[in-house]
Amino acid sequence: VNAAAEKLLSITGNELLHKPIKDFLLNETIILQTLKHTNATNIISRMRGRVGTVFGVQLNIVHYEERGLSYDLLLIERIESQTANQHAVSMALERFQALASMLPMGILQTDLLWQTEYVNERWLEITDSKAGDVYGLDWMQLFHPQEAEELLTQLHYSINDGNEFIRECQMKCQQSYKWIMFHVTPITSQQGIVKGLIATISDFSKQHEAEQRLRDLAEKDPLTGLSNRTCFFDRLDHALDRVERHGSLALLALDLDGFKNVNDTLGHDVGDFILIEVAKRLRNSLRIEDTVCRVGGDEFLVIIEGLDDASIVAFLAEKILHVLEEPYELGSKEIFISTSIGISFSVSGRKTTSKNLLKQADLALYRAKDAGRNNYQYYSPELEQISRRKLELTNDLHRALERQEFEVYYQAQLDVDTNVIKGFEALLRWQHPVRGLLSPLEFIPLLEESGLISSVSQWMCLDSFKKLRQWIDCGLLDDDAVMAVNISPKQFYDDNLVQQLLDVILVANLTCANIIVEVTESLLLKEHNLIKNHLYRMHELGIKIALDDFGTGYSSLSYLKKFPIDIIKIDRSFIKDIATDESDSAITKAVIKLGESLGLTVLAEGVESEEILALIKLWQCEKYQGYLVNKPLPASQIKALCYKHNQTL
Ligand code: C2E
Ligand code: CA
Ligand code: CA
Repeated sequence: VNAAAEKLLSITGNELLHKPIKDFLLNETIILQTLKHTNATNIISRMRGRVGTVFGVQLNIVHYEERGLSYDLLLIERIESQTANQHAVSMALERFQALASMLPMGILQTDLLWQTEYVNERWLEITDSKAGDVYGLDWMQLFHPQEAEELLTQLHYSINDGNEFIRECQMKCQQSYKWIMFHVTPITSQQGIVKGLIATISDFSKQHEAEQRLRDLAEKDPLTGLSNRTCFFDRLDHALDRVERHGSLALLALDLDGFKNVNDTLGHDVGDFILIEVAKRLRNSLRIEDTVCRVGGDEFLVIIEGLDDASIVAFLAEKILHVLEEPYELGSKEIFISTSIGISFSVSGRKTTSKNLLKQADLALYRAKDAGRNNYQYYSPELEQISRRKLELTNDLHRALERQEFEVYYQAQLDVDTNVIKGFEALLRWQHPVRGLLSPLEFIPLLEESGLISSVSQWMCLDSFKKLRQWIDCGLLDDDAVMAVNISPKQFYDDNLVQQLLDVILVANLTCANIIVEVTESLLLKEHNLIKNHLYRMHELGIKIALDDFGTGYSSLSYLKKFPIDIIKIDRSFIKDIATDESDSAITKAVIKLGESLGLTVLAEGVESEEILALIKLWQCEKYQGYLVNKPLPASQIKALCYKHNQTL
C-alpha cells in the first residue's frame, strides 16, 4: 500500500494489510470477477473510504510473477465526478441501444418539435421504410387519412399534458396500411418539462384480424356478411340519437315474396345462393354509410340516415324493388323473386324508439304484402289502428265460440241445366257484440293465426251438417244434397282432421257423399305429405274435394292430376265480367272445357245476373252459385228461400 492509497482510503498501511480489498469496493463481486478473469483495464467504478465517503475511481490491475509467485497489483486512480457522469450517460445510452435492438417493437424518439432523433431497426422493418424517410418524418402521412388528423390532435394533447397515449391504428407501410399498436410516452426533464417523446409500435395485424373475426361472428350474418340483428339495434339506436343533427332517418323492412317456396321446392342451396345475391344487390344499390342487415330467413332491414328529403326514399325503394326483381341466374336456370318493402320514418323533433320504428316498418310491410307484393308501403297512423283492431279482435275471438257469437250462413249451389238447388256452401259469420256482423275475410286469418280455426271449424261443420240433415228430412232437398265447407290450409297440418270430420258426419247422420270440402290452391302448393294423405283419405271415403277460387292463384294444371280433385270452382272475379271482358270469357270457357275433359265438375262462383247464367249454360258449365239466387243467408231463412225458388221452376 503506498501513501496515495492510504490517503485515498483514509487508512494507514498497517491497518490495510491483510484486509480484503472488497471491503472498499461497491459492487465488489462483479468488479473482482472482472478484474481477475479478463485483462480489463480502465474499469470505472466506485470505492468506499473508511469514513464512509464514496468516490469514483478508475481501476487497473497488473499481474506479475516474482520468484515463482504470482501477484496482482491494483492501481487506483481517483476520477472527477464529471467524468463519472459522462460515463453514466454513455452507459445509459449503450443500455438503451442494447435494449432497443432487443425489443420486438419499433422505437422512435423525437425532440420537442417531434423531429426524429433516433429510430431503431425494428421501426424501419415494421413500417417498411429507410432511416432517411424517418428523419424529417411527416406525421400526417404516417397514419391512415381517415384518422390521421384526429389521432394527431389527441396525441398532441396527451403529450403536452405529460400523459401516455396508446391506440390501435393503421400506419402507412409503403403503399398499404398495417394495423399496429401505437404507444407514445413523453420524455420529461426532472422539472417535468416535456422535451420530446418516445413512440413504440408493434405489428398488430394478426391480433386485429383475430379480433375482427370475433367481432364479425358477433355482429355479422355468416351467410351474407351483412350485419345481424344485434348489430342492427346498435346501429339504429345510434342513428336515432343523431336524427336531430343529421336529419331524418328511414327504416326499410324487406321481405322476399314467396322465398319459402323457393327453399321448399328448389332446396336450401338455391335459397342460400339467392340470399347472398340479394345481399350483394342491396349493398350495391345503397350508399356505403347506409346500414344493411339480414335479420331472419329472408328478412332484411335497411337504415338510411341524413335524409333532407323524404321523397328520396321512394326512389330508393323503387330502385331496390327493381334490382331484386332481375332474374337470379343459377346455371341454366333463371329464378324470379320479388320483394315487399315497409317503410317508417324518424324525423327531427319527434322522438321515437328503435322498437317502435321497427314495429311501424313491419306494419307497413304487412300492408305491402296485402297489397299484392312487389311494392312498398309507408307506415301511417291508420295502419297502426288496423293492427290494434286486429289485436282486439283476436282477443275477442277467444271467447266468441263459448258466447255463441258465430253463426253459419248458407249460399245455394245449383244445377245450371235444371236450376235445382243441389246443396249449400256454409259460410261463417261472426256477430260481434260491439262491431256487428263481421266478414270471414277479416277474422278467418285471425282464427288461423291464433290456432282457434280447428275448434271453430269443428263446431261449424257439426252445425251445418245437422241443418242439411233437417232440410233433407223435411223434404226441402234430395237425399244426395251436399254441404260444402271451407277447410283452411292450417287445419291440414292436424293429424286428426279426417277423423274429426268423419265423427261429425256420423253424429249428423249423413254420409260422406253429402260432404264437399273446399280447399284453395295455396294448400296444394305446399306439397306436404300429410296434406296429400288427408286429401286422398277423404276422397277414398267419398268426400268430394273442390278447388276453390280457381284461376286466381298459380292455377298449375298439374295439381288437377296430382291431387284427387272432384270439383273446380271458377273464381267470381272471372265470372262477373264474362259478358263484357273477352279474356275473362275465354278463360272461363277454357276452364269449363278442361274440367269436362278431365271428368271434373265445374262450378261458377258469383253468378249475379241472368245474362251470366245464360252464358255459362251455353258453355255447358255444370253448377253455379251466386247472388242471383241468394246472398248467404242464416239457416232460419233457408226454408223460405227453397220454397220461393222451387216456385220458379
Ligand atoms: P269463398 O269460399 O270464395 O266464398 C265465397 C264468397 O263469395 C262468400 O263471401 C260469398 O258471400 C261471396 N259471394 C258469393 N256469391 C257472390 C256474388 O254473386 N257476388 C259477390 N260479390 N260475392 C259473392 P264470404 O262469405 O264473405 O266469405 C269470404 C271467404 O271467407 C270465403 O271465400 C272463404 O274463403 C272464407 N270462409 C268463409 N267461411 C269459412 C269457413 O268456415 N272456414 C274457412 N276456412 N274459410 C271460410
Ligand atoms: Ca268456398
Ligand atoms: Ca271461392
